[in-house]
Amino acid sequence: MFDETIRALEALKGQQTVSIAIEDDDEGYFDRECPSEECLFQFKVLSEDWTNKVSDDQVFCPSCGHSADADKWWTQQQIEHAQQAALAEIAGSLTNAMTRDAVQWNRRQPKGGFVSMTMKVDNRNTQVLLPPAAAEAMQLKISCPSCECHYAVVGAAFFCPACGHNAADQQFAQSISGILQSLDAIALVRSAIADRDVAENTIRLIVENGLQNAVTAFQRCAEAIYTELPTAGKARRNAFQNLSEGDALWVAATGTPYSAHLSSNELAALQRAFQQRHLLAHTQGIVDADYVIKSGDSRFQAGQRIVVREAYVREIAELVRKLTDGLLADAGRTKKPAPSTE
Ligand SMILES: [Zn+2]
Ligand SMILES: [Zn+2]
Repeated sequence: MFDETIRALEALKGQQTVSIAIEDDDEGYFDRECPSEECLFQFKVLSEDWTNKVSDDQVFCPSCGHSADADKWWTQQQIEHAQQAALAEIAGSLTNAMTRDAVQWNRRQPKGGFVSMTMKVDNRNTQVLLPPAAAEAMQLKISCPSCECHYAVVGAAFFCPACGHNAADQQFAQSISGILQSLDAIALVRSAIADRDVAENTIRLIVENGLQNAVTAFQRCAEAIYTELPTAGKARRNAFQNLSEGDALWVAATGTPYSAHLSSNELAALQRAFQQRHLLAHTQGIVDADYVIKSGDSRFQAGQRIVVREAYVREIAELVRKLTDGLLADAGRTKKPAPSTE
């Protein structure tokens, strides 16, 4: 009585691949996710550019610079979709019920609902649901100055996915506008999310993410400017994540300290921000004894959790911009125009 089933299974033996279509968004972009376990950064690439400009052998993560072949960049959601659809196609020979499920899958995707987005705050990725208007406002569309590949990120990007181009000073300017754009969307988030706890928690993630991105944007830019100095010594990895260590390297290479560009109050504010980034990345924001000593921040005691405010992140974004301008001037580099954002 299983003859038909067995015949259908026999027929499936030769069938190895199933093509699954992943749909683009309204503007022709589609989702990608960094395969590095530590990163899992989500971004979008213009479909056309993915086909024509991105190589099959090497794609770069805009956030961490990790590279892998073009097959590795599926988002978790796309993988689930593909698995369901593939199963459905195979099962279709036996019964078409699951095929109907697959068709339903697309219809079940929220339209006009919330947009799921990955934000990295405490070194782990946190999935947040944002109203589409806010998600859109936070999205930074970038066109690579080197290869013109179009991609989109939330917050900050440091590398082009197609060519890996990292024009530090240009990417820096872009990252800072991305951070400010995210902060500008806070009012939208607050008004669109009915549950107040959820809204405030989402806003906290956006603000803390902004602080981390501001420090990281500075670090990547300072590293790149430093490396190109003819007088640069060897710097340990992440040296510019530490304000005093970066300052010492900079003086040694250029003779000019950070204090030539920022007042002592401004430097103290940055020092605190750099230490807070460290807490957010390593202790989930919980203050430790080291923080109390190094930050000079007497508002919190060990064991407490730091509170980061929007206005403060804006101030920090401005300070890292000021310091970066100073470093570019020290290095004898004129500021180049930022790559076009739409
Ligand atoms: Zn990555
Ligand atoms: Zn490029």
